[in-house]
Amino acid sequence: MRELKGKPIEKGRASVKRLKTSSVATSYQREWFKNLKEQVEQGEPFAFVNADVPQEILRAMEIPYVVNQWWSSVCSAKQMSPYYLGLLNEHGYRQDLCRYCSLSLATSFDPTPENGPWGGLPQPTVAVTRLTCDSQAKIFELWSQKLDVPFYPLENTVPRSIPSNWWEKASHQWEDLFEPHRLDYMVEDFKGLIRFLEHHTGKTFSEVKFKEVMKLANEQAEYNRKTRDLIARIIPSPVSITDTVPAVMVPQWQRGTQWAVDIAKALYKEVKELVDQQKAVCENENVRLMWLGRGLWFNLGFYQHFEQKYGAAFIWSIYLGLAADGYARYGEDPLRTLVSRTVGMEDMLHMPPWNSDWYVNEAKRNGIDGVVHLISDSCTQSAGGTYFVKKAFEDAGIPILQLRADPVDARGWDDSAMTAQLEQFIENKIGVK
Ligand code: SF4
Repeated sequence: MRELKGKPIEKGRASVKRLKTSSVATSYQREWFKNLKEQVEQGEPFAFVNADVPQEILRAMEIPYVVNQWWSSVCSAKQMSPYYLGLLNEHGYRQDLCRYCSLSLATSFDPTPENGPWGGLPQPTVAVTRLTCDSQAKIFELWSQKLDVPFYPLENTVPRSIPSNWWEKASHQWEDLFEPHRLDYMVEDFKGLIRFLEHHTGKTFSEVKFKEVMKLANEQAEYNRKTRDLIARIIPSPVSITDTVPAVMVPQWQRGTQWAVDIAKALYKEVKELVDQQKAVCENENVRLMWLGRGLWFNLGFYQHFEQKYGAAFIWSIYLGLAADGYARYGEDPLRTLVSRTVGMEDMLHMPPWNSDWYVNEAKRNGIDGVVHLISDSCTQSAGGTYFVKKAFEDAGIPILQLRADPVDARGWDDSAMTAQLEQFIENKIGVK
């Protein structure tokens, strides 16, 4: 842990890992990163990308990549966000700017980048983002100027229609769900991205390899769906989100590889074994909680306090939920099929009633007693539409608490105040003492 100008930084709590699959995934992640650094030192290209860009294209071109928000979560979990974000502020950027997507930019201001997590990010060859909010273009523009790398901004489109139950249609009926004009536009944008990558990395796009990547990504999504369905119907829950998030998200960023499929399968098998052995997070499960929004990356141990005190388990997060419902896609044309995976991601996560309908449906499917919604006011995506999310749960008769905090910036986090808010919610709104 580093300090910013001598001011001590309060450390969050790491979560206790209960699943072997989570530990395997986390160890792999460290080793993968070490190999990446060696490859880049030997002159191999490397891409830095936003979470919602078509990573399957890079996978098929054998261009390794690091995801912006993943790196942000790693820096935050290593308790380095106060140091990095402090550097950003020292360079004139105000403290309440959005931080989740700019923490990686902040690391580029570090005079000793080799002291970053696992020796710091290697120098990228290219960067790719998607213009899903007003800040993305500026963050990536600044970042690419600082590191002198070209970046490709993918456009974003918005839906004109409001579908019912998108999660039942996304896998096979995506042509109608996402509207043909949106898909047509993004297919052309993806072709432009492929040309950009070929030009700047010297790698070529192989359709044969791409089809294989798409097939593996679907297999991974199918295992994630089985795992979500299993957790949803078992009371008491065999696992909590501190178990599932690393076991789902590390392979999510390795999507389209056999390793990622194997981890998704291992996670399902391990959860099933726990069910068969009648093991649970809370033997006396009193409360099943849903965590909406991004993970509290600097303080993943926060969730486990409520297991011990109330028998309250956080069993649902967007990470396994979206992995189960948002990724599988089947179609004849692989590029258009990939477009259908990418085009509606923001609708599903951030646009009511796409997101609110899905959240309420998931809450009912999982037997949720209460919802905790993390809202970061500096993020327009995260903060927008939250009135409608709250109303949807209230209309469904499910208690909801909106917690206002940043998912990666530990500086503004008041642990006792946040814990007290959640305890009052459990005691007064859900009725468990
Ligand atoms: S507004 Fe939100 S999604 Fe957009 S760059 Fe900022 S933190 Fe990221």
